[in-house]
Amino acid sequence: MTNPILSSWTTPFEIAPFAEISDDDFTPALDQAMTAHNDQIAAIAENSDAPTFGNTIEALEAAGEQLDKVLSVFFTVAGADSNPRREELQREFSPKLSAHFSGISSNKALFKRVADLWARRDDLNLTEEQARVLMLTHRGFVRAGAALAGEDDTRMQEIKSRLASLGTSFTQNLLADERDWFMDLTEEDLQGLPDFVLDAARAAGLEKEAQGPVVTLSRSLIVPFLQFSPRRDLREKAYRAWAARGANGGDTDNRDIAAEILGLREQRAKLLGYDSFADYKLETEMARTPDRVRELLMQVWEPAKSRADADAEILTQMMQEDGINGPLEAWDWRYYAEKRRKAEHDLDEAALKPYLQLDRMIEASFACANRLFGLEFAPLDVPLYHPDCRAWEVTRGGQHIAVFIGDYFARGSKRSGAWCSAMRAQAKFPKDQAPVVINVCNFAKGDPALLSYDDARTLFHEFGHALHQMLSNVTYESISGTSVARDFVELPSQLYEHWLEVPEVLAEFATHAETGEPMPQEMLQKVLKAANFDQGFQTVEYVASALVDLAFHDGDAPADPMAKQAEVLADLGMPHAIGMRHATPHFAHVFAGDGYSSGYYSYMWSEVMDADAFAAFEEVGGAFDTERAKALEDNILSTGGSREAEDLYLAFRGRLPGVDALLKGRGLIAA
Ligand SMILES: [Zn+2]
Repeated sequence: MTNPILSSWTTPFEIAPFAEISDDDFTPALDQAMTAHNDQIAAIAENSDAPTFGNTIEALEAAGEQLDKVLSVFFTVAGADSNPRREELQREFSPKLSAHFSGISSNKALFKRVADLWARRDDLNLTEEQARVLMLTHRGFVRAGAALAGEDDTRMQEIKSRLASLGTSFTQNLLADERDWFMDLTEEDLQGLPDFVLDAARAAGLEKEAQGPVVTLSRSLIVPFLQFSPRRDLREKAYRAWAARGANGGDTDNRDIAAEILGLREQRAKLLGYDSFADYKLETEMARTPDRVRELLMQVWEPAKSRADADAEILTQMMQEDGINGPLEAWDWRYYAEKRRKAEHDLDEAALKPYLQLDRMIEASFACANRLFGLEFAPLDVPLYHPDCRAWEVTRGGQHIAVFIGDYFARGSKRSGAWCSAMRAQAKFPKDQAPVVINVCNFAKGDPALLSYDDARTLFHEFGHALHQMLSNVTYESISGTSVARDFVELPSQLYEHWLEVPEVLAEFATHAETGEPMPQEMLQKVLKAANFDQGFQTVEYVASALVDLAFHDGDAPADPMAKQAEVLADLGMPHAIGMRHATPHFAHVFAGDGYSSGYYSYMWSEVMDADAFAAFEEVGGAFDTERAKALEDNILSTGGSREAEDLYLAFRGRLPGVDALLKGRGLIAA
């Protein structure tokens, strides 16, 4: 019998036949698919014909279709509906897959053909998109070290393998520090804590087998504890432990690891011919250079710091009214900010929720896509991997565009967070391929299911990513949909969140679950205002971390990262009562792997763009201006990575983004 994952799928729109696939099918399917892919790669690399775009680049694009199928099915269920067997498979597949892909990127014969094409690129008569795919393929090989030979090649392999193991140690040390520390709370220590914090503290106590409730270093428990506990002594103790993660001395200390990682990254960049690791890392990003990143962050820093300084004065005064003298400390900020929030704009979550029904918010996200891009959504009855999944056929003018799947509810088998992935990406080569796109969220079930305002934003955010996949209209899969620079990929998603805040959208779709009444204006205003609260603090703690990350990788690697961190913060005039969002010994974004190293700025970079891009609508015909919508689709949502991100943005906006819209959006300058 053929493996159901590898057989041809005869389901509607060739959606994976989840019902026929068992967990025992994954390992044989993966092995067979990797072997097939290796054979295809070998045939390309050893082809005796001279390299052409068709027999090399297009052949690479077309190769691996079986592997795509296996991985799309496996990663869908491993993320959204796991079980012990699937977890075990994930541990088994991860090293296999990294060996498989690094085998391809270090294949010298293959690289030789790609390099030959690259050298002759001007004589190949390529379309703009083909030239782009050739450039990206060549650059990918070079950046992985394929052009190195002899000692340099050996050294590169050593560096990569050492970096991989240092990244793992960094993560494990951090987990150990987070696991080992907890603080017992007596009945008396619980005063002032709201029910949800008490529940979380009791659950944590059971998990730690403690006598009663405890505070742990998990962000979801310690942050609300710092917000709500009136006990300054306990807040200080908890905050100090939280800030010391990865810097407690002994076996789990991450400071030397951070220094070694930074040194090796610098060597790696220099072997590849770059001045610094930041130059290497930013080459593929929209920002391109460390100077441009610093310039953007500093434009945000100054107004954020002024706001934070002004807020600190107000909070200090509130603290003095409590009879505490001396400076406001880092363990005081969240507590007094929460008191202030309650006094200034108390928003009753319980009263808000009935206005945010999941089904109506889904309708709202579809209705906006209809007004902006003419998309229509019809429910589709197909068996998927879990009964909670829902599917829609997406069409425009009667033409099939995509299948959209929504898997909205939290359950034990789903990892936390929310994400969007293409179970099949859009492409026209080697044949037309319409996308199948899924949004996975973790909303609480209910009848009807009700969302918090944050949940509703998440729904719009993930749907923005889905539009980027569904409206993709390129030839080659490697550049389709969300295959764009990291500092550009959040633009469509963050931008789409703005439509939730359009008053006419909330007025139509935020209707009360029982009475059907629209949300009262006063509540609507409170919701929008609450989103801006304490942005001085939030922006300062984030930008400080982003600037330290950049300083670590721009120029020579610091021998003592902690000294470098202190120097950067001193130069910035970091407010006394605000810590970095992530300090070096626990800055996993930067040290657990390469993903966000000299890239932590990218959240802010995207936010600058989304604020500026939405302002483009408001400046003309409003949120539903059809010309702007068309420009957005033509230049950003349909184009994937077919051109440089900066060119795409320029084509949409006519100029590069400025920070004003972001500063207004965060309430850091007057609107
Ligand atoms: Zn996102």
